[in-house]
Amino acid sequence: MRRILVKGAGVAGLTVAHELAVRGASVTVAEVRGQIGGNASWLAGGMLAPWCERESAEETVITLGKNAADWWERTLPGLVSRAGTLVVAHARDAFELARFAARTRNCESVDEEAIAALEPDLAGRFRQGLFFASEAHLDPRRVLEALAGKLRAMGVVFLFEAGEVALSGFDQMIDCTGIARADDDLRGVRGEMLLLRTRDVSLARPVRLLHPRHPIYIVPRADHHFMVGSTMIESDHDGPITARSLMELLNAAYALHPAFGEAEIVETGVGVRPAYPDNLPLVKCWKDGTITVNGLYRHGFLLSPAMAEQAAGLLFNSSAGNSSAGLESENEADRQRRSA
Ligand SMILES: Cc1cc2nc3c(=O)[nH]c(=O)nc-3n(C[C@H](O)[C@H](O)[C@H](O)COP(=O)(O)OP(=O)(O)OC[C@H]3O[C@@H](n4cnc5c(N)ncnc54)[C@H](O)[C@@H]3O)c2cc1C
Repeated sequence: MRRILVKGAGVAGLTVAHELAVRGASVTVAEVRGQIGGNASWLAGGMLAPWCERESAEETVITLGKNAADWWERTLPGLVSRAGTLVVAHARDAFELARFAARTRNCESVDEEAIAALEPDLAGRFRQGLFFASEAHLDPRRVLEALAGKLRAMGVVFLFEAGEVALSGFDQMIDCTGIARADDDLRGVRGEMLLLRTRDVSLARPVRLLHPRHPIYIVPRADHHFMVGSTMIESDHDGPITARSLMELLNAAYALHPAFGEAEIVETGVGVRPAYPDNLPLVKCWKDGTITVNGLYRHGFLLSPAMAEQAAGLLFNSSAGNSSAGLESENEADRQRRSA
């Protein structure tokens, strides 16, 4: 039985651990934090929205992400909501909708009546929008905890507050440490978010509000909570949310529905998304035999299932794993895997 150490218990590490465990590996997950959470994955919106994301992402994000909702549903039944995504803009920003529609596909135009049918609380507020019916969302926190629970039940061992773990007891190490990984190609993209709570608005699905400067989305969660996200700042600084970002997110939520003005601010948070220069994720083999799964950027929940399958395939479908090939030649293989 292959003994594999997975470093990092974010969405990358946990999905990789799952794909290895179902293939019969003996898996240990080492995490520097004291428990699941507190990382970029914990702060995510949880949107599984490949068609919307195409607005600013490569086609690869659709190719790798279109089956993600099926993977999550199969892995953790009942935790995925398949209610689509609604995209709206105020009348003065109608050109933003046209631009968004031109850059995406797999959606239908919706008028005021159709918006009200989808989201009764938005009735009369928007004249037109776009509906991406095949998209889905999940609550990252519920999913990360449920996945860790499932992994424990499958025999995966968790080491929290882990320092350097001796590699001698393992056949392979897979590094899923996100922005902490020493990799010159990686950069951080800071994302600030809020968690609001109000009983005065109900939404059935993520709603994206387009705006030339401050596009935002609101993802409904259980118990009248709403995740409002998020900024995209080229920085790996994970200090507290700035006053400007807080104001912008709150203004945009208020513009979506004025009842958000009375909501409780339950939490503010900042996560740093790990990104490669092309904003696409990568399974990399390093000279020392380490495999890294990283660069999930703004698509951790959307793309980690496909990347975890790639990483597991690499270990189980070949005799690689202890590759001593140079990083340069391995990069070529990486590029091929990514475009496959
Ligand atoms: C505000 C915000 C909103 C987002 N919304 C979405 C969304 O709607 N949909 C979507 O798909 N994606 C979304 N994302 C992106 C997604 O969150 C990231 O792509 C994803 O979290 C990256 O996961 P990761 O596992 O690589 O990194 P992380 O979640 O950061 O996990 C890395 C883990 O490694 C641990 N670690 C670090 N060093 C070590 C070490 N030496 N040993 C052991 N452990 C270590 C860290 O403590 C951490 O737990 C969002 C991100 C942000 C910030």
